[in-house]
Amino acid sequence: DSSYFFTTLDTIQSRCSLPSRFAHKGTFGHALIVGGSYGKIGAIHLSAKAALRTGCGMVTIYSAACANPILQTNFPEAMLQTDPELNHITSFPKTIDSYAAIGVGMGMGQSADTKQAFFQFLRALAASKSPKLVLDADALNLLAQQPESLNDLPLESILTPHPKELQRLIGSWTDDWEKLEKTRAFAQQHQVVVLIKGANTAVVLPDGTIHFNTTGNWGMATAGSGDVLAGIITSLLAQGFSSEDAALTGVYLHGLAGDLAVQTMHPKSLIASDIIDGISKAWHVVL
Ligand code: AMP
Ligand code: MG
Repeated sequence: DSSYFFTTLDTIQSRCSLPSRFAHKGTFGHALIVGGSYGKIGAIHLSAKAALRTGCGMVTIYSAACANPILQTNFPEAMLQTDPELNHITSFPKTIDSYAAIGVGMGMGQSADTKQAFFQFLRALAASKSPKLVLDADALNLLAQQPESLNDLPLESILTPHPKELQRLIGSWTDDWEKLEKTRAFAQQHQVVVLIKGANTAVVLPDGTIHFNTTGNWGMATAGSGDVLAGIITSLLAQGFSSEDAALTGVYLHGLAGDLAVQTMHPKSLIASDIIDGISKAWHVVL
C-alpha cells in the first residue's frame, strides 16, 4: 500500500537545518504549555523542559496557582502565569498572540471548570485559526466527551493520544488494521494529525498517509514519557516547523533520545528526565 511509510534519519534530516549564526531567541519561537493540576505539576515541568531542550527560544507555562512555588524554585528557564484557582485551571490565557504554538492537556485534570474553560478556549481559537495546537492527555479526554468541539480545532492541530486516549476518541477496534483505518478516517475527517503512540508510533496525517517511527525502546514506557513528547512537538511547531514536519521529527527525536539514553541507562531504569537529557544527543545525530 502506497499510503504507508517509515520515518528514518534521512526523512528527518531533510526536514531540519541549523539556524543562522545571527539567530536570537525570538527567531526560535515562544511556546505556551497549558496544564498541570495539584499532584501533576511534574507533567508540565517535563513537557516545558523538553520544549526548551528541543530548541524553542522561550517557554511560558500556564497552570494552577499551586505550580508557582514549585516551578519558580526548580525551573528558572521557564516563565509562569498562574490561574487564580489553587489546584486546577479554571481559565486559559487571554492573550495568545505572542505564542507560535500551544501544547495543552498534560496533567491538566478534568475538573468541571477546567472543562468549560477548555471548550471556551477552543471556540475562541476557531475564530482566529491560530496558533498551532498540540493536544495531549486530558485535553484529549475532554474532547472525547464533547466531540463537536473537534470542529473548533485549528487546522492541522496535532493530537498525541496513547492507546486508551485514542480509543476514547475513535471508539474501540478489533485488530491493528482497524485501529489504523479508523484513525486515518478520523485524521482526514477533522484535518488533524493523530499519533498512535507505542512501539513504532504511527503518525497519521490529514492526507491519509501513515508514517511509522523507527526509533524508541520499551524503556520509554514510563511515567512522563508522553509529556516529554508533547513538549518536543510543541517546541518544533514554535520553531516554525509545519504540523507534518513537527509530528514526524518530534516522534523520531523522542525515540532517538530514548535510544541514546539506554546506551548508559538500563531501559528498566529509564525515567522521563533521561529522555529529556537525550534530546541534545539526538540533535547531535540529526544536525
Ligand atoms: P504516555 O503514555 O502518554 O506517557 O506516552 C508514552 C510514550 O512512550 C509514547 O511516546 C510512546 O510511543 C512511548 N512508548 C511506550 N511504549 C513504548 C515501547 N514499547 N517502545 C517504544 N516507545 C514506547
Ligand atoms: Mg500521556
